[in-house]
Amino acid sequence: MGERITGHTELIGLIAYPIRHSSSPAMHNEAFAKLGLDYAYLAFEVDNDTLEDTIKGFRAMKVRGSNVSMPNKTVVHKYLDKVSEAAELCGAVNTIVNDNGVLTGHITDGVGYMEALKDAGIDVIGKKMTIVGAGGAATAIEIQAALDGVAEISIFNKKDQFYARAEQTVKDINERTKCKATLYDLADLDKLKEEIADSYIFTNATGMGMKPLEGQTYIPDPSFLRPDLIVTDVVYSPRETALLKMAKEVGCKTMNGLGMMLFQGAAAFKLFTGKDMPIEHMKEVLDIKY
Ligand code: NAD
Repeated sequence: MGERITGHTELIGLIAYPIRHSSSPAMHNEAFAKLGLDYAYLAFEVDNDTLEDTIKGFRAMKVRGSNVSMPNKTVVHKYLDKVSEAAELCGAVNTIVNDNGVLTGHITDGVGYMEALKDAGIDVIGKKMTIVGAGGAATAIEIQAALDGVAEISIFNKKDQFYARAEQTVKDINERTKCKATLYDLADLDKLKEEIADSYIFTNATGMGMKPLEGQTYIPDPSFLRPDLIVTDVVYSPRETALLKMAKEVGCKTMNGLGMMLFQGAAAFKLFTGKDMPIEHMKEVLDIKY
């Protein structure tokens, strides 16, 4: 990288805490190098206490943009000039773009999921999705799927602290899009089976299947699935969750969370640079298979 940094190189940040484990710097810098773009992407340990000063600093230094992760995703909008419709509906921002001093917040997680489906040859537009989850990843997918034209979404979640958020998501989708959304308690497994039965796609958008819940799924047995059902998971570590293993055994087409991770980065990359991320190259370099 040393060879390509000059006085003209523009900075793109990633602000979160903790953040040193992130694969985003490697992904974006590899893509800049591949395309010969004069940017550098660096991670900064920033939490809510230092967030406002960081955003002021970005403005003062004319930084091109930044990705944002927890704990800043849900509060950074306060310091921006505007947010996209999806970011407003999700109540979260994962990408900030600085256009001549105007800071706009976007959320690319949902776009990332929808683009990953397309890349895997899966067309959900006009169809029914059943999805489990009401947290950050789930809300972004549900909102984007509704905005993009998925006809019907049945959302299931535990009656935990996330349930009220799902109630708001369902309200927003029904009021602001043409999609019909309904919320159910995940404890009602008969209902879950019934909703999956006439869905085109079933998605896990919770941490079920990754540590500390690795090897587990809330789907009690393979009779909930059928060979022509598409089954996807936002989890990418492990690459094959207990849900995806069961789905493969039934004969379902499956997709893990690596595609969403890659394409949410690609969507941010496009916002920062105006260029398409070299997807096939990134898949090879990052060993992405889904
Ligand atoms: P979050 O904390 O915002 O939400 C957690 C969700 O999990 C809630 O819906 C909660 O009700 C549910 N949950 C927790 N324990 C559960 C249990 N025992 N049974 C059923 N549901 C349970 O988390 P998040 O940021 O939305 O992340 C969720 C998962 O998505 C994580 O595994 C994360 O790694 C993954 N993720 C993947 C990508 C990607 O690009 N592929 C992006 C973001 C998050």
